[in-house]
Amino acid sequence: MSSHKKNLLFIPGPVTVAEPVLAAMSRPLIDHRGPAFAEILERVTRGMQSIYGTKQPVYFLGSSGTGGLEATLVSIFSAGDRLLSCPLGGFGKRYANIARTYGCEVEVIETGPGHALDPQKLAAVLRADTQKKIAGILLTHNETSTGVQQDMAALSKAIGDHGAITLVDSVSGLGAGEFRMDEWGYDAVVTASQKVLAAPPGLAMVALSARATKRLKEAKIPSFYFSLRKAMEFAELGQTPWTPPVSIFFALDAALSAYQSEGAHRVWNRHAMYARAIRLAVEALGFEVFSAQSAHSDTVVAVKAMPGMDVAALLKKLRLERGVSLSGGQLELKGKIFRIGTMGDVSQTDVLGMLGALEMAMLEQDLPVHVGKGVQAALRVFLEMDAGTKPGDGQKTASQTAAQTMAIPS
Ligand SMILES: *Cc1c(COP(=O)(O)O)cnc(C)c1O
Repeated sequence: MSSHKKNLLFIPGPVTVAEPVLAAMSRPLIDHRGPAFAEILERVTRGMQSIYGTKQPVYFLGSSGTGGLEATLVSIFSAGDRLLSCPLGGFGKRYANIARTYGCEVEVIETGPGHALDPQKLAAVLRADTQKKIAGILLTHNETSTGVQQDMAALSKAIGDHGAITLVDSVSGLGAGEFRMDEWGYDAVVTASQKVLAAPPGLAMVALSARATKRLKEAKIPSFYFSLRKAMEFAELGQTPWTPPVSIFFALDAALSAYQSEGAHRVWNRHAMYARAIRLAVEALGFEVFSAQSAHSDTVVAVKAMPGMDVAALLKKLRLERGVSLSGGQLELKGKIFRIGTMGDVSQTDVLGMLGALEMAMLEQDLPVHVGKGVQAALRVFLEMDAGTKPGDGQKTASQTAAQTMAIPS
């Protein structure tokens, strides 16, 4: 056992879940084919529709996010369908691998690690497809493995009227910023309970356009558990085809209620502010952010390791001695980057504590660090935000004065 009392979870999912959301899970179970469950299903569906920016149905699957990705693939396509995959990292590659597993033909647009997909490149590939052989496009809204977030409005413009069915992995994106599924014309958008929505893992959600819904009857890939067609039939009865994780539904219901009380705009700002504070902090500590300037994610910051730095040892030290969990890099980025999530029930105080712990762990690892510089950079972001949101009465607030006079020693 370690000596600290509190664990700070700064991994990009699962995330820290707030007390009322955890408490909701201890409610006695109910009949999942009865009216009380139907009422919850209706409420969480409405809550999710608002976050998706859609009037279309949202289906709930008892699985992690990957189950949602698989469900879209098997329910919409047939073996032999040609899909255009646009991976930015591990999760984009996963979506393509699911497609290959079920016999789809996958064409890939390569993008350098840390970058977002170039909308013009996408537009050019689709323009060249004059015979409309591409039946589907696989996109990642937020690539968690590289800390990259895409401009989904710009990509929707690039796709234009090509006509391919668009599948979006927004597992670590949806809810952290504005999403307008109907307006942008995306056909299937997948998310999960354990990321921005800040509930425990256990539920994947899929929103489907009318066009995608029609495909549910035509798709020829065999599926049983992950059939969205069955999900659709049961949703009409206020049910899910199989026993749902009822307690996770209780939690999600509470989490969505917390999301609504905070207000979508404040939730978006919180993620953006934490991500900015963390980026500036790690830069002040001498790190480089892995994602390209215009492609930074608001939900996860990927940081390049310093020369000679043992990422695994640093993360282990942080976890065991300071109660702070960060993530390493995946696959070929293992040992080269580490990642800090901004999602979940974490406060500014938690962010400052995490950064302070990182500084101390670096010091103990004999890494070159000006202790305090990272925390100070983050503190400045929080003070500026604070100053910006207070109503001005001509008098400077303490936050304004502090933010303006705060000298970051160089
Ligand atoms: C977390 C995540 C997933 C799903 O992972 P699961 O472990 O199956 O929930 C998929 N895509 C992205 C971008 C993710 O961040």
